[in-house]
This record gives sequence, C-alpha cells and structure tokens, in this order.
Amino acid sequence: MASAPFVELAAPNGIKYAQPTGLFIDNEFILSVNGESIDSIDPATEEKIVAVQAAGEADVDIAVKAAHKALKDPSWKLLPASDRGALLYKLADLIQENREVFATIDAWDNGKTYADALETDLTEAVTVIRYYAGWADKTFGQTINTNHQKFAYTIRQPIGVVGQIIPWNYPLSMATWKLGPAIACGNTVVLKAAEQTPLSILFLGTLIKKAGFPPGVVNFINGIGAVAGSALVSHALVDKVAFTGSTATARAIMGTAAKTLKNISLETGGKSPLIVFEDADIEQAVKWSHLGIMSNQGQICTATSRILVHEQVYDEFLAQFLERTKTTSKVGHQWDKDTYQGPQVSKAQYERVLEYVKIGKGEGATLSSGGEPIKVDDKDKGFYVSPTIFTDVLPTMRIWQEEIFGPVVVIAKFTEEQQAVDLANSTTYGLGAALFTEKVEKAHRVAAEIEAGMVWVNSSQDCDPRVPFGGVKQSGIGRELGEAGLEAYSQIKAVHVNLGNRL
Ligand code: NAD
Repeated sequence: MASAPFVELAAPNGIKYAQPTGLFIDNEFILSVNGESIDSIDPATEEKIVAVQAAGEADVDIAVKAAHKALKDPSWKLLPASDRGALLYKLADLIQENREVFATIDAWDNGKTYADALETDLTEAVTVIRYYAGWADKTFGQTINTNHQKFAYTIRQPIGVVGQIIPWNYPLSMATWKLGPAIACGNTVVLKAAEQTPLSILFLGTLIKKAGFPPGVVNFINGIGAVAGSALVSHALVDKVAFTGSTATARAIMGTAAKTLKNISLETGGKSPLIVFEDADIEQAVKWSHLGIMSNQGQICTATSRILVHEQVYDEFLAQFLERTKTTSKVGHQWDKDTYQGPQVSKAQYERVLEYVKIGKGEGATLSSGGEPIKVDDKDKGFYVSPTIFTDVLPTMRIWQEEIFGPVVVIAKFTEEQQAVDLANSTTYGLGAALFTEKVEKAHRVAAEIEAGMVWVNSSQDCDPRVPFGGVKQSGIGRELGEAGLEAYSQIKAVHVNLGNRL
C-alpha cells in the first residue's frame, strides 16, 4: 500500500507542524484505494487547509481486517492489562506535550477559539485518556458459588473490533472518549472522524505509533458518512459500533447494525432545558445559561437551548441575559484573544442556523436579539452568525422541538413547578437538563422528574471523566465516561466448573 505524504503547514497563529494526510492503518499513513480525498476547510476564511485521503468501502475493509488481525495477535491479545494502561498513559503524555498543536488544528478546521480548544478540549482529552489508563487493570469478573460440587466464574473480555464514528464539534476530545475505554478493555478500533474535522485525529495517529501501540490496534479513517461510516457499520468483522452524532444518523446506523446484530452505543442530539425558579440566584443563572448555549458556537450536544423562567423573575432574567449576550458573546476569528464565538463549523451548519431563524420568525416567535449573518472583517468571508435569542416561544414550534446546533436559544415563561417539569420534558430528546433554585428539596425533586441522562443543579455543562455521560429517549443508548463507560466495551463470559459431580 502506497504511503501518503505529510504536508508542512503553518497555521494562522504561527504554529508549524507536519500534517499527515493518509488513512492511518496498521500504524502507517496510506493512500486510499480509489485515490479519493476530502478538503478540510477553515470556516473563518472558507479556504482549503489541506486535502486528506477519503476512505471508500475497500479502505474500510482493509482497516477492519487490520483491526481484526491485531485483535488475535499475541502482541495485543496477550498483553498484560497493566501494559495496556501504560500505553494509554504514554499516549496521554504525548497529547499533553503536543497540546498547542492539537488546539491549533481543532481551532483551524472547526472554527472554535484557540483558547477554548487549549483549555477545554485538550484538558479533557488528556484527563479522559489518563482516567481510562487507570481502569485498564482494574476490571475483574466474579466467582459465584452454585453448589458444593460446582461453581461458576465470570471473565470480562473485550467485545472485539469496534467501529467508532465521531462528530466535528469536539474532534480530538470525542476521539479520546471513545478510544480510552475501548483500549482499556482490550478491543481494537477503527475510528472514523467527521469529514469536516479530520486533521487532529490523523495527527493523533502519529502519537499512537510513537506511544508503541502494536500495528492495527488503533486505525483512523476519514471519509463521507454515507460511504465510509456506512461501510464500517455494515462490515461483518465489526463487533460493535459506537457512534456520536445526530439522531437521524443514529437511526440509520441502528437499521444497518441490525442486519448483523451488532452491539451499539449511541450518543445523539439534544434540546436540553434549563429551568430558572423564582428563588434562583439570577446573576448566576444568567452566567451559566449564557455559557450553556453560546459557548463552542452553540455546537454542543448538551447545549441548554431551551430556557424556562418563572414569571416572577422573567423580566429581570431576560434583561440580564440580553445584556450578558451583548457584552460577552464577541464574534470574531478563532485566533483572537477577545473572541467568544468563532465561525460555525461549515457552510451547511451556518445555513442551517439561519434557516431556523427564518422558521422561528415564521412561526410567530419574537426575535429578541441576533439572528443575522455577521462580517468580522473586510474580507466578507466566514460562517459567522450573531448569537440569537427568541422569546414568546410555544412548545408546538419547531424552534422549541428541534435541535438547531448553533448559538440560538428559546426562552419561555412558566408559573408552576409541575408546568416547568412538563415543559422541560416536552420534546423527544433527553440528554441534559439544568435547574436553578436555592431550595435543596426542590432541586432534588425536580432533578428526579426531568427526563434526561444528566442534570446540573445551579450549573450547566459540567462534565468529568469520572461521571457517566449520555441520554435517554431519542438522545441515545448507553453511557460514556466513568465506570459506566467500560460497560460499552466489554462483555461478560460465564464459566461453569464441575468439581466432581458425576452423572
Ligand atoms: P452526523 O450524524 O451528520 O455525523 C456524525 C458522524 O456520523 C460523522 O462522522 C459522519 O460522517 C457520520 N455519518 C453520517 N452519516 C452516516 C451513515 N449513514 N452511517 C455511518 N456514519 C455516518 O452529525 P453531525 O452533524 O456531524 O454532528 C452534530 C450532531 O451530533 C448533533 O445532532 C449533536 O447533538 C450530536 N452530538 C452528540 C453528542 C453526544 O454525546 N450526545 C456529542 C456531540 C455531537
């Protein structure tokens, strides 16, 4: 297989590095079989950064077979669990050493601010890999006494070859959420990056090799979802599919995976509510709710995109929220230190956000702020939109029900606690939820009633490697992070032992 070149790149922030452009299979960067490629675009300038190889069905087959071979190879299969952990620790150290390069890459092709990529994404990536490194040699089976002449024991074994598919909103960090537990449990992996943000995952490939992973244990492919993603999900040698992305794609994946009855876990979309009760600390509620929808350009699966405010404090909350958005949400280049919100990731996402603004206006909601394309310099380029706030929103409206995945929030009023809970639960999603109250009893009562996989009390968007992450309803199946994240990547075998009971 022909190797693919590394391209010397100089990013707008002055960082220079060698970008691999191939498919990372068997620890080598190779050209795709059909020679196809995809362009990675800077959403601030709309210019091509570099082209990378795009996998077709034949490439997916090569990658999966490499992972399958590695799964059976003694260099991986017989590797002591603590050595798997050591490899992950080494990888975490290498990511840490290269954090400026990673933050540069993710800011460049995603549009997120460099500062945010460095502080949030990179910190998370390193801590998640270290967390799962620690788990590698701490998962055990059980001994079960059945009767005096027999007993049984269980062993935790890897599931096998895992196909992992990630989105573009936190490219490196999403990859680490999936790689950490899969590797800790002894699986082998073919991970497909999102077509919008392939670069940091390929750079990670160089570190996988440097850390000393045996060839084929971790493979990275790029490619179009309907081609490479779909081929991965339908491949007979893939034992499990772990997906993060939209609910619509998750449905398609479930359908395809059903044909070979694959184990699946899904992290999908959301329309997460944030409730502000009349006894809340309004200043805190405003700060957290602004962060909950406007950070990362609103491209957060757990974005608290529906705010419900008690009528007694509604006017005060709204005035402060509008003011905070005006003074804090500075839209600009991802490299500028004072930028809060960079460009949306792609033209498609930019157009999607503006389309929803049109839909909201058409449905009769009040556009209280934003909703416009923005120019941040005289070049008139980039997928920038202003932070958008809709009020007078009804639960029947599409902007209430549907995930927009941009800096667009809808705000509604309520009068009773039960009404707030009913409104919070009034969508098909159930990923995150936040509530603001100074009353402890109310906080726990409402937290129990909200249909969501995660609830934040007097906060929004907290995420920790030790705490399970995932959704209910149409927001997903299974959990990532925490001990629960290991469940997705191991299976239990029961062994019955007869100590002498003769028939
Ligand atoms: P998407 O579903 O279009 O794409 C996600 C990934 O799936 C990409 O790698 C894409 O190439 C691949 N894909 C697309 N079609 C496929 C197919 N038919 N078969 C296999 N793979 C396919 O989503 P997106 O627009 O890139 O990402 C945004 C969505 O992701 C939002 O809905 C967001 O809520 C969700 N998301 C969820 C979480 C979570 O943890 N719950 C985290 C981040 C993003």
